[in-house]
Amino acid sequence: MTPSHTAAAILTAPRGAVTVASVPVAEPGTGEVLVRMEACGLCHSDLFVASLEKLPLLPLTLGHEGIGRVEALGAGVEGFAVGDRAGITFLASTCGACELCLSGRERFCPRQLNFGYTVNGVLAGYAVVPAPFLVRVPDALPAAEAAPLCCAGWTAYGALREAGLRPGQSVALFGMGGLGHLAIQYARHLGLRVAAVDVSESKLEMARSLGADLALAAENAGRTLQKQWGGADAAIVLTGSPAAIQQAFRSLKRTGTLITSGLSTNQYELPIVDTVLKGISIRGSYLGTRADLDEVFRLAQSGVGRAHIERHSLDQAPAVFERMRQGEILGRAVVVF
Ligand code: ZN
Ligand code: ZN
Repeated sequence: MTPSHTAAAILTAPRGAVTVASVPVAEPGTGEVLVRMEACGLCHSDLFVASLEKLPLLPLTLGHEGIGRVEALGAGVEGFAVGDRAGITFLASTCGACELCLSGRERFCPRQLNFGYTVNGVLAGYAVVPAPFLVRVPDALPAAEAAPLCCAGWTAYGALREAGLRPGQSVALFGMGGLGHLAIQYARHLGLRVAAVDVSESKLEMARSLGADLALAAENAGRTLQKQWGGADAAIVLTGSPAAIQQAFRSLKRTGTLITSGLSTNQYELPIVDTVLKGISIRGSYLGTRADLDEVFRLAQSGVGRAHIERHSLDQAPAVFERMRQGEILGRAVVVF
């Protein structure tokens, strides 16, 4: 039975506060599935959406890092049955026909829709979602621990793969939040030497406990990495902070690779001379391939990339977003329904 309404964390205006309100639940249409949500992680991209001057949809339900159970199927849905567990990511749909969609890079499709941005998200008791981008999630993982893998884990793993490093090479990870604490685990699993960088001593402490070879305060991290390691083969910036990007750039070896994967409305000025004379590659990384996401869930079952989480009720979401804005969350905050 589809309930008529459900509680959701929503925005009612651009740059407005996140509030919890009752929203209507539609019957799942053709190709859609009704999901009873079990857990949804809170992501900095939710705050990025909340910071935009214009939103394509209002009111807008946030959330794109969800785990739930299929409650009802619309017409024509194949591959999922009632009761199945499903994961929901930022990717709600793509055109399926463009060059990027046809080459396994559908995350760059110009006609994509995104949960919690261009379509209603899943920070809600129930969500009606298109079936094609639902993800299979192993039953062995608790929902609250699996949820952060749908965005933080996938993005962190995708960024590391994008860096194209070989075992024994070094990576500097900038930002030890939800993505960073998972990225350390993946980097170690890939046989990399790992430096963790953050402004928060408690997050650096966590990075050390997860096996980072170096844990550095953000200020002067670039110079310290040059001194200690002769620079890193790759630097991955998991926040949207231009100051972090600047330090990451400075931390690189000659011919090193800078990967940026955090969103921000800020700008970063490119150091042209160093980019040219040192042969620096700069690349954006967004989510990962579907195979990367499968690997993230497989690794989690084997104990690699386990999310450190704090559990909250939906009513607490507005206050938790405020704490996120202040950088006070260790690991990932997850709403459990
Ligand atoms: Zn996210
Ligand atoms: Zn496309």
